[in-house]
Amino acid sequence: MDSRTVGILGGGQLGRMMVEAAHRLNVKTVVLDAEGSPAKQINAISEHVNGSFTDSDAIARLAAKCDVLTIEIEHVNVDVLENLQKHSNISIQPAPSTIRLIQDKYVQKEHLIEHGIATAESMAVESTTDALEAIGIQYGYPFMLKSRTLAYDGRGNFVVKSKADFEQALTVLHNRPLYAEKWAPFVKELAVMCVRSLDGEVFTYPTTETIHQNNICHLTFTPARVGDSVQYKAQLLAQNAVKTLAGAGIFGVEMFLLPDGELLLNEIAPRPHNSGHYTQDACATSQFEAHIRAVLGLPLPKNFSQLSTPSTNAIMLNILGGAEADSELEICKRGLTTPGATVHLYGKTTRTDRKMGHINIVAGSMKEAESRLARVLGEADKTST
Ligand code: ATP
Ligand code: MG
Ligand code: MG
Repeated sequence: MDSRTVGILGGGQLGRMMVEAAHRLNVKTVVLDAEGSPAKQINAISEHVNGSFTDSDAIARLAAKCDVLTIEIEHVNVDVLENLQKHSNISIQPAPSTIRLIQDKYVQKEHLIEHGIATAESMAVESTTDALEAIGIQYGYPFMLKSRTLAYDGRGNFVVKSKADFEQALTVLHNRPLYAEKWAPFVKELAVMCVRSLDGEVFTYPTTETIHQNNICHLTFTPARVGDSVQYKAQLLAQNAVKTLAGAGIFGVEMFLLPDGELLLNEIAPRPHNSGHYTQDACATSQFEAHIRAVLGLPLPKNFSQLSTPSTNAIMLNILGGAEADSELEICKRGLTTPGATVHLYGKTTRTDRKMGHINIVAGSMKEAESRLARVLGEADKTST
């Protein structure tokens, strides 16, 4: 469908699923990450680059083989990308300036506030107990202390419940630039995937409800189990936020639904997102294919991001690794025997709490999807009584 080569910084599961979508379109992809990483396993070419997406030489070697560069993780060496953008013809999507902005979660917040997007109140903070005390007086308890950089799966966050937590919070987050956030007493967490085309048009996927366990996405429900007006407001908030960011591609927008129905934007991921995995089996075009199309300027036709039918309901279950090798396969086997369930595995060695795969469950109603989920979880007998 396109003779240009797409280079991907990062070869984890998101890169793997991008590769899978690109292959269906005969779009060639080259991956930069460790040898044998999930995205390389399903992409039998010799050009892959072994190395780190933070290493300038490795990125230069990847760039030399590609027409377009994109990312599956935001924690890349953005100085090198900016340099390439200035001194070569390579297209980098989304724009390095967007990746830089998102890398620092506090800068990201300031950017959103400047553009009138509602977020939890936040401020930069020194790593001292005096500074935390001043935050406690201003925000009350609990408040959230966050690392500005290199955060994922809640690693980099500390819930400060009282002054007694100060020392532990500063120990856990030592050597990291910090900011504090006012507590958001959310009733649900929502997420919306958005696609930005090369000419800046922003399309939204349906609103998804996300359920976290230990700060890791555990389940998603789509459409979110909230009223139509909240669903629409969430899509609009996400679309407005992504409109302020330069470059093409898919973006995952996380938000909090407050008890009064208001929404606060939590953070944006400039790449495919765990909350968008359901799109693989419930929408005409998955988030991964939409990303590949967007970065190449391929068509994004009417309704590509809608659910396959008006009655499509989808649940995504993340499969985490357990203590034993292959312990995740038990649940996957039940997935294989469940109608409407599709198992996606990432080719990783089992490690406790590692994201090993996910199961998408699609049904004609949420009630049916929930009963299929119970079956996958091995709870069918319990729930049917
Ligand atoms: P990700 O893996 O999504 O990148 P992360 O490490 O960047 O995660 P956040 O998204 O900032 O972390 O926060 C993780 C979770 O912590 C949120 O999904 C939410 O459940 C909770 N949380 C974050 N900020 C707040 C807040 N201000 N008030 C209440 N809960 C919060
Ligand atoms: Mg994050
Ligand atoms: Mg998050």
